[in-house]
Amino acid sequence: MDVVDIIRAKRDGECLTDDQIDWFVAEFSRGGTIPDEQAAALAMAIYFQGMTRDELTTWNRAMVDSGVTLDLSGVGRPTVDKHSTGGVGDKVSLILVPLIAACGPAVPQLSGRGLGHGGGTLDKMEAIAGWRAALTAEEMVSQLRDVGGIIAAATTDLNPADRRLYQLRDVTSTVDSIPLIASSIISKKVAEGTEALVLDVKTGSGAFMVEEDQARDLARTMVELGEDSGVATVALITGMHTVLGRAAGNALEVAEALDVLEGRGPNDVVEVTLALAREMLALVEVDTDPAVVLAGGEPREVFDRMVAAQGGDLSAGLPVAGHRQEITAPATGYLGRLDCRAVGVAAWRLGAGRARKEDPVSATAGVVCLSKPGDQVEAGQPLLELHSDDEGRFISAAAALDGAIEVVDKPPEVPPLLIDRIAR
Ligand code: URA
Repeated sequence: MDVVDIIRAKRDGECLTDDQIDWFVAEFSRGGTIPDEQAAALAMAIYFQGMTRDELTTWNRAMVDSGVTLDLSGVGRPTVDKHSTGGVGDKVSLILVPLIAACGPAVPQLSGRGLGHGGGTLDKMEAIAGWRAALTAEEMVSQLRDVGGIIAAATTDLNPADRRLYQLRDVTSTVDSIPLIASSIISKKVAEGTEALVLDVKTGSGAFMVEEDQARDLARTMVELGEDSGVATVALITGMHTVLGRAAGNALEVAEALDVLEGRGPNDVVEVTLALAREMLALVEVDTDPAVVLAGGEPREVFDRMVAAQGGDLSAGLPVAGHRQEITAPATGYLGRLDCRAVGVAAWRLGAGRARKEDPVSATAGVVCLSKPGDQVEAGQPLLELHSDDEGRFISAAAALDGAIEVVDKPPEVPPLLIDRIAR
């Protein structure tokens, strides 16, 4: 095989053969003869030329085959997972995993750490004292069998192709290519061994896919790819125009997830969680109403068991930031807009997120939204609460919120949360 021929073929809009794709992905992921500059050139050619459905299915399978696949046959329950394309305040996994486990199926959620303005699920869970993200494959299977849910880091032998390629895409401006995103996400889920998958594709200012059309395109591509790869897959398109719930920041989000598990959480978080839960249960043909199970309190107990199984201790309480600062309403009226991305950037500048993958994150930093779009507000009333252990961060966090808050005279139209459902 000649890698230059492969790059040229894709650059000129030709289809790659299965052999070319298999060879390229295997060779690159094992750190063989393909240097980063040639892999980057191919990623850029794919960015501009795209991939056909057949090419993408082969590319996806080659990524899965670059490492091990978890064998979940010993779990003894149907398996179903959820993936969210990420947004500000998205703590849904912390509620959904124990909720689905309490309904019967097992949820093998292998997750990542956050980069940029959206926090990662592992960062949130690591706000719990003692909790560890790393599990061996045997520990994963036994926890799935006994407790029904895991939230854990993927082991390094799972899909090494994605790890290498993602690092390269990150520094060559080739992340936002629909086939590369779709194969990155779906190949990780196929390697994780789940039978079924529900995708939460977010759209709006705080989302990866800001425009609804892009979100729909990505959702359709992922649903087809999931199904073509043997995983029953459905996607919901959900709004990320403002923060989901009230809290953005690691420990703050864990606290809010616990509120939902205890029946007190914000309606928008409950609405998205239950919509995703219904899709997950339908995919594995479990006829249970997740709203009834959530109200019954068992998911809260499952969450405790999941945390304890991974060394966590909630009895110590969650860490709290040393300093707080309020942002107040500029006028009296209705909160018309609270820009999601701006709140995410503020939380990030307070320390809740990282710029480079090796940066540490603060467990306590973040933003609490005291009001949400549609609420009536009075001039001078606190709207947002900034939390940090480092007071020096408040100025740049507040600057991120310049122009992000709009107070209007009439009750604004609040964009819907559940926008669309995409299935094969
Ligand atoms: N998330 C992923 O896992 N992969 C991508 O390519 C983009 C977002």
